[in-house]
Order: sequence, then C-alpha cells, then structure tokens
Amino acid sequence: MAKVYNFSAGPAVLPHAVLAEAQSELLDWHGSGMSVMEMSHRGKEFMQIVHEAEQDLRSLLHIPNNYKVLFLQGGASLQFAMLPLNLLGDKKSVDIVDTGHWSKLAIKEARRYSAVNVVASSEDRHYLYVPAEDTWQRDPNAAYLHYTSNETIGGLQFPFTPSSLPGVPLVCDMSSDFLSREIDVTQFGLIYAGAQKNIGPSGLTVVIVREDLLGLAQPDTPTMLNYQVHADADSMYNTPGTYPIYIAGLVFKWLKEQGGVNAMAARNAEKAGLLYHAIDSSNGFYTCPVDPEFRSKMNIVFRLKDESLEETFLSEAKKNGLVQLKGHRALGGMRASIYNAMPIEGVKALVHFMQEFARQHS
Ligand SMILES: *Cc1c(COP(=O)(O)O)cnc(C)c1O
Repeated sequence: MAKVYNFSAGPAVLPHAVLAEAQSELLDWHGSGMSVMEMSHRGKEFMQIVHEAEQDLRSLLHIPNNYKVLFLQGGASLQFAMLPLNLLGDKKSVDIVDTGHWSKLAIKEARRYSAVNVVASSEDRHYLYVPAEDTWQRDPNAAYLHYTSNETIGGLQFPFTPSSLPGVPLVCDMSSDFLSREIDVTQFGLIYAGAQKNIGPSGLTVVIVREDLLGLAQPDTPTMLNYQVHADADSMYNTPGTYPIYIAGLVFKWLKEQGGVNAMAARNAEKAGLLYHAIDSSNGFYTCPVDPEFRSKMNIVFRLKDESLEETFLSEAKKNGLVQLKGHRALGGMRASIYNAMPIEGVKALVHFMQEFARQHS
C-alpha cells in the first residue's frame, strides 16, 4: 500500500487505527453477521452505535444535559439556512462576524430569511486578521451572534471565544476546528460542524444546541430543517447517515484513547508551531500572509516567493508522499491541513521537504 501524508482540507485524513478497525468489522459488526451499512437504523445494534457515539462526544466536550446533540445531514452549508429559520423567532435580525469565505456564505444565506447585521469584517485586509472584539457593532436585540471559529480556506482562527450578551446566544461554525481544542460548551447557544474536516467522513453534520433554543422555528420551516423535530426523534426522524455516524463514533473513541481534547490541543499546537517556524525561518522563500496571532492551527496557508515554482513544489511533494497541498482555488498558493488525525511525523516530513526544496531552489 502506498503510504502518503494527506494534507487535504476536507474530506480529510482519518486516524489509521479507525480505518483499520472499520475494515476489520466491515463485513461483520461485533458478530451481528451484518455490516453497519446494512443495519436498520432503529435496530438495537445501530442504536448502541449511535448511543455510544453521542456519549463519547458528550464526555470529550463535557456537554451538559441541557444541550441536545444532533446528527444531521446537508453539511455545514445547510446550517447557514437552518440557523435563521430556527433561531430568529420573533426577533428582526441576526449578528454575524465576517472573517472570510465561510462567514460570507453564512451571511448570504441568512439574508434570505432575516436581516443581517455584519458586526465586523476583516475584508478590508483580505481576511488576514480577526477584528478586535471591542470594535464590533453588536445589536443587543439580535436573535444570535454567529462566527466561524476557523476559516478553513483563509487559514484564520479565532484565538478567543466572543463574549455573549444577555439574550443573544453565541452560535459557532466549528467545522474545521471542532475537537481540536478545549471549549466551554456552556458559553454557546449552538455549535455545529460538518464531519469531514475533523470528525469523520462527509455526510454528517454535528449540531450541539441548548434546549431552550428549540421550538422557535418559523411556521413554514420544512420539517427536515427543524431542529426540534430532530431533537424529539433523537436524530432518527428519518434515516440518518448511519455509516458516517459509526465512523465518527470510532473517531471519538480514538480521541479518548489519545487523551482527549486537551492532549490533541497540545499536539496540534506543536504541529502548527513546527510548520509556521519552517515558513518564518525560510528567509522569505515561503510566507504566511495571516497575522501571527490569528494563524490557524488546523489549516496552514503559505505561498512561495517565486510563484512559478508552485507546480514543481506540488509535484515534488507528491513524489515524496506529501499530497493535497494545493491551496483553495479561490486563494491559490499552498495549504497544509493538519487536523487531529495528521500525525506529527507527517508534519515533520513536510517541514523536511520544504527545507530541502528551498535549499535546491534558492
Ligand atoms: C467545509 C466548511 C463548510 C462547508 O461544509 P459542507 O459540509 O461542505 O457544507 C462550512 N464552514 C466551514 C468552516 C468549513 O470548513
């Protein structure tokens, strides 16, 4: 088997141990004689799988009992519409922080259902920083405040959790840094994350929602887009993405074995530190445009001083087993996504390659 280190932004690398376990029980899950893919989602085997997945996630993030965990479909993108539909209630407007590609899409979609107050934007400097919280123009009557804790494409990450105003719950798109660092769930009204960055395969969206925010959906909200419907049915209103839930459950168990979210955070900081150091100490051969205090520990974007070397960089990297390093088509340049499942050896291999490449082409 070809061994590569996969730096894709998503769908992204999964822990090798998880894939090996899934392979070993692909045809026969725990003596049931069935693959998880073939099981009734209401049967006792799958009920056990989904129950354990939820309990493991609850213990990893210390999710209190007054929060529901929902396993939904439609990607994080569908949440951009579900949020205003479900949380606007009788309010007039929602607050959104604009820090890049994904917050822009959240704003665009929310505007179909609600007035949107963009409380702050870093577009003036190409989304290379997070606007200081004391400059935000917040609306004390907003239905909620939405932000994107990690901008996957721009490589920009919030180093802080915004403060919540009374009556204005905090809503966070954590798609690309969910479970990468400790969070205090009680600071949030709702957290959501598409699975394919840091949780599991695509086809699953995890939503953690405080119970008092259920039941506020607009009357014409489609049944399938109503959080309350999914909460009442324990995510089984219709057939959920059973296999992605199963794999996510294995990832949660793997995370617990690794020492939990705190241990991952320490490793993620170390991995990101190695890469940024390699970039910053390359005498300008590589540059990261993002302001240092807001650089993402998950998605490291960088450019080559000589852009004509990019294609060579990518093809040489591939020859060295380092794949999917091309930046998002909207930005160009390079991007190394180093989620929880990327081992430090992969980052070291990339750093070594970058140093060699710079030496040969300087
Ligand atoms: C990938 C991503 C999305 C979109 O996710 P889909 O599952 O493709 O809809 C939204 N927000 C962030 C921060 C992302 O990284």
